[in-house]
Amino acid sequence: MSPPLQLAGIAVDAVSVGGLLTCIQLPGFDVAFDMGRADRGAVCRSTVLFTHAHIDHMGDVAAHCATRSLLGMAPPTYLVPAENIDAFHALMDAWRALDRSELACTVLPAAPGTRHDLGRGRFAQAFRVLHRVPCLGWSIWERREKLRPELVGRSSAEIRAARERGERITDATEAPVVAFSGDTLIEAIDHEPILRQARLLIIEVTFLDDRVSVADCRSKGHVHLDEVIARADAFENEAILFTHTSARYGHAQALDILRRRLPPSLADRVTLLPPPEHR
Ligand SMILES: [Zn+2]
Ligand SMILES: [Zn+2]
Repeated sequence: MSPPLQLAGIAVDAVSVGGLLTCIQLPGFDVAFDMGRADRGAVCRSTVLFTHAHIDHMGDVAAHCATRSLLGMAPPTYLVPAENIDAFHALMDAWRALDRSELACTVLPAAPGTRHDLGRGRFAQAFRVLHRVPCLGWSIWERREKLRPELVGRSSAEIRAARERGERITDATEAPVVAFSGDTLIEAIDHEPILRQARLLIIEVTFLDDRVSVADCRSKGHVHLDEVIARADAFENEAILFTHTSARYGHAQALDILRRRLPPSLADRVTLLPPPEHR
């Protein structure tokens, strides 16, 4: 298997093909977005943040849970859109009956605004995106201590003296590190600043040219490249990963389309996720 991508200093190990499978791992945060394929790496992720219940995003959850148990790993935690929580429990119960196994896991409902602690000063937060079924995007944040403004530029001796006097020398800040769009209409970019501001944006761009019109793309609840280009100036992200591209585009062909169509302001920052056979 190929090593993870490194984007804006963040390791990303991902497979995502529109309609077929999506599983996006952040090994450094021990999380995955969605579980459309529970390969050996994905099984190691103890927390899965689900965006929605389409099979290509959730279909391998039982394999994920069972394989972790087989390998002696701790039971996983699944954050599931609240609209799907009863059906999700029923699904896992059906597998327990079929497999005659415990499939131990923690299942938590998620809704826009839900925060989930990831340890080590990091947390995930859900937001609403717009798909054909209830869907959440996810952001990953880091809490950091930042020198208080009045101490910036002071000498280390002065700062040490302030600390020794018992003064607070830092303020806690929360920085958005990663945002994942899930499956969505482009309007999520307009409504959710986190998608434009996170250091790394992972966004679905399912269709890349007029083989599928913007209107047809929208009727399927997805993002078209035309719509991203129309918002090229909105993205403040350091790096952008395009995922979920339709299998109708070969990888070389998709790269060629991006090379021809992306404005320089995006071309410098965009990475196209390679297809699974390249991973
Ligand atoms: Zn999808
Ligand atoms: Zn979907």
